[in-house]
Amino acid sequence: MPSVPPLGPALCRLADSFLRQTGRNHSTTAAAAGAAVLTGALLVAATGSASAQTITPTTPGSSAFTAPHGAAPAPALVQVAGPSSYTLPSEQASAQEYVAVAANLLTVQAAEPAPAAEAQPEPAAQEAPAAPAPAPEPAPAPVPAPAPAPEWSAPVPGAPTSNPYGVRNPHYAAGYHTGVDFAVSPGTPLLAVGNATVVSAGWDGAYGKEVVLRLADGRYAQYAHMSSISVSAGQRVAAGQQIGSSGSTGNSTGPHLHFEIRSANQYGAVINPIAYLSARGVTDF
Ligand SMILES: [Zn+2]
Repeated sequence: MPSVPPLGPALCRLADSFLRQTGRNHSTTAAAAGAAVLTGALLVAATGSASAQTITPTTPGSSAFTAPHGAAPAPALVQVAGPSSYTLPSEQASAQEYVAVAANLLTVQAAEPAPAAEAQPEPAAQEAPAAPAPAPEPAPAPVPAPAPAPEWSAPVPGAPTSNPYGVRNPHYAAGYHTGVDFAVSPGTPLLAVGNATVVSAGWDGAYGKEVVLRLADGRYAQYAHMSSISVSAGQRVAAGQQIGSSGSTGNSTGPHLHFEIRSANQYGAVINPIAYLSARGVTDF
C-alpha cells in the first residue's frame, strides 16, 4: 500500500473551511450534503483503514477515541460517497484535492436523475361491474297536511234545484223568483255557504223559519222554510257548518229550501245564487 500523507488534521481544517464557505455561498442543501460527505471522509481518516477498527481506550475521556496521528486513509476510502469516474488524487495530493473529489462525487450523485418509477400496471380493463348504488333512503312520507277548511259550501251539497232563480212569476212580490229552490226532504241539514255571522234566525212571515247570514264578502245568504234552526243572531259560523234543517214552513207548497244571495239585507236586493256559488267553486247542486 502506498504511503499517503496524513489527512486527518487537514481534513478537519478543510471541513471547517468548507462548511463555512458552503454555508455562506451556497444553498443549505449543498452545504449539508457536503458536510455529510466530509464527515464520512473524516471518519475514515480517523480510523485510518477501510476495515472496521476498534480503538481501545487507553485514557479516560473523549481523547480515547482520537485517531492516532499518522494514519492515512487508503485512496479507496475516499469513495465513501459512491462510485465515480473521477480519478483519485495522487499520493502527494493535497487535502483540498481529496475534498474536491468528495464534493465532485456528491455533485455527480446529485446530478444523476432518479430512476424512473416503475410504471404501475394498469388496472384490469375488465373490472367487475360496480355494485349498484344502494337505493336512496326513501324520503319520509310527508305528514299529510290537514285539509284546509273550505271557504265555500253548497247549502245542501248534492241537492238538485227544483225552481231556478229569476223565473218570472206574478205570485211573487218581486214578480220573479228571488232565490233558488233546492228539492230536499224535511230535516235535511242546511250548511253555511261561507264563513259568516248570523244576522237573524227566526220566523219571517212568508219565509217561515229563516236564517240570514252575512258572509265575509258582505253579501247575505238567506235560508227559508226551515223546519229547525240551530244558530242564533250574532253567532259566527264557518263554511259548511250546519245552521239548521230544511222544512216547509211559511208560504211553501212543499218541503224545499228557498235560498237567496242578497247584496243588501233587504227584500229584492238579490243576485243569482247559483252564479254566486259557482264563481266560488261550489258546483255540487
Ligand atoms: Zn223559492
